[in-house]
Amino acid sequence: VKTIRHPISAARAVMEQSPHVMLAREGAEEFAAGQGLEIVDPAFFRTESRWKSYLKAKEKREKAVDEKHGTVGCVALDRAGNIAAGTSTGGMTLKMWGRIGDAPVIGAGTWADNATCGVSATGHGEFFIRNAVAHDIAARMEHGGATLKEAAEAVVMKKLVAQEATGGIVALDAEGNIAMTFNTAGMYRGYLKAGEEPVVGIYGEDEPESFQPNRARSMRSLSSNSTPSSSRRGRCLSAPGRSLMRPWALTTRYQGTPSGQWAMAPPTQRGPKARKAPSSMPAGFPASLANCP
Ligand code: ASP
Repeated sequence: VKTIRHPISAARAVMEQSPHVMLAREGAEEFAAGQGLEIVDPAFFRTESRWKSYLKAKEKREKAVDEKHGTVGCVALDRAGNIAAGTSTGGMTLKMWGRIGDAPVIGAGTWADNATCGVSATGHGEFFIRNAVAHDIAARMEHGGATLKEAAEAVVMKKLVAQEATGGIVALDAEGNIAMTFNTAGMYRGYLKAGEEPVVGIYGEDEPESFQPNRARSMRSLSSNSTPSSSRRGRCLSAPGRSLMRPWALTTRYQGTPSGQWAMAPPTQRGPKARKAPSSMPAGFPASLANCP
């Protein structure tokens, strides 16, 4: 779709207000308009930085696959145990006309099942479709007894890395455990638990040591793009004084300019310790976050 201001809201309307699971193209746009959703000119989505990265990718077409992408995603668990996931993307730079990525493909870039987990993915969509990444994570939990973290690691850090497929996921299980696993240099991400400080990260701040070998390998393979300097690694901050219960969306990109992915959990679940916020946002931190409600 090209004109729907909030595609995840449109996806929700399809789920709740139509007998179908997926609508596409003009039919989806017409349906969204009929549901009272905001319709905008496609030019609304144009940004100078995306335009520049398109021109850059066009110049270096052979490296296009490693260029930036633009995706937002979120997973949420409510206090009744319902899990929802949504993913919205502009796709990959220099994609072919008519190309469909993983974001709208249920089980590839997006999955939610109250019995296991919700997953929203960003990355090289063709690999996420081939590997049914989001569903694979849930299936490993359901059939193999894996924890969310184990399942996410197996798929993102082993299976995808073995295929040299870059990307990452945010996921939440039925108990509110969070996984934000990525095999790229970075992924803009965050989570929010009711009554707690929001926590966000860009590079590999929160990952256990066991992640590092794969991460290092993956970072090396991406070094032609924009591997962060060591001084930028380890940056993680929280945004203080913001309303904790409102859904957040963050428009960013991944891999050097990572993707924005959010996970939200209800009260009583604990995760990695919230970091203390710096007095000001560091250079390069997404402006959209500074404006979060
Ligand atoms: N997964 C998206 C796609 O392949 C791109 C991205 O996440 O950046 O369309």
